[in-house]
Amino acid sequence: MKQPIVDLRSDTVTQPSPEMRRAMAEAEVGDDVFGEDPTVRRLQERVATLLGKEAALFVPSGSMANQTAIRAQTQPGDEIIAHADSHIYHYEAGGPAALSGCSMRLLEGPGGTFDADAVNAALRPKDSHFPQSALIVIENTHNRGGGTCWNLDEIARIREVADAQNLRMHLDGARLMNACVATGHKPPEYTQYFDTVSTCFSKGLGAPVGSVVAGTEATIRRVHRFRKMFGGGMRQAGVIAAAALYAIEHNIDRLADDHANAKRLAEGAARATHISVDPDAVETNIVFLDVDASVTTAAALAEQLRGRGVLMLATGPQRLRAVTHLDVSSDQIDAAIAAICQTADTV
Ligand SMILES: *Cc1c(COP(=O)(O)O)cnc(C)c1O
Repeated sequence: MKQPIVDLRSDTVTQPSPEMRRAMAEAEVGDDVFGEDPTVRRLQERVATLLGKEAALFVPSGSMANQTAIRAQTQPGDEIIAHADSHIYHYEAGGPAALSGCSMRLLEGPGGTFDADAVNAALRPKDSHFPQSALIVIENTHNRGGGTCWNLDEIARIREVADAQNLRMHLDGARLMNACVATGHKPPEYTQYFDTVSTCFSKGLGAPVGSVVAGTEATIRRVHRFRKMFGGGMRQAGVIAAAALYAIEHNIDRLADDHANAKRLAEGAARATHISVDPDAVETNIVFLDVDASVTTAAALAEQLRGRGVLMLATGPQRLRAVTHLDVSSDQIDAAIAAICQTADTV
């Protein structure tokens, strides 16, 4: 295979820039398990403010952020309400069952969203036969939903249902900043409805590692305990926290470029034969391409595209996912469109 023209498999493939590496090299560090890393502390304070929460805790991954938040707010036998396409259900190795002893009640709805009526209908009666509904998880933007942004009014209605039944709410905001840039909402406009919020620095923000969980002081103290239990206590973590700080300071506003590139890719790919793409469905940096089943499969098409230097992920039998990010230029998008059209013509 020749060198890839463009890697659209995920926004996790970004490389730390020379400036980000410099910030990492120069970071002041200490032992963060003793609470003594000044860079980690600065990051946590900065992110708590950004998200409008009392406290934040730096963790190694988005999965650990979600799973510690779940563990801190549930008991074995509890039930978590989430979308059937959610990351916590599909891509975190069965964490809610294995680590928290929780079952999941899965809801359907367009683009990874659901409404307050669906939540209401899913609530369990307070009776000893049933698992106890304990936590509602919303993912924003929604990954398998195609990078969709949640509607604030719907989240507010779901919060009313949660309050009436004493449920907690967690926001899987791995790509929350994409949602904020796309909608113009400030992060606290979303986060005000949630007890806990996770977000990732290692996706579109371009840091090599790291995520955060934010919430009240009391909840984050519990999350801290489970971070240790799950093996996520880190020592001189300022080296990676510095990259996260750099990402927050430099790489949020530019997510708009990724969104424009995703739209451009969708519009270009929509002209290819045997492939259907809906450019209007592209709200942020994720594009789905559906391949006509009578011609080929997504996996086979991905392999052919790889031969032309374009990497994408087959996420279903007929579905390819392309994700734009800070290491993809608009020229690379044009090259990818040309490769997609040529490949589709010859399958
Ligand atoms: C990437 C992602 C995560 C976390 O993934 P890690 O690989 O564990 O960092 C969580 N939620 C969503 C929606 C994601 O896309």
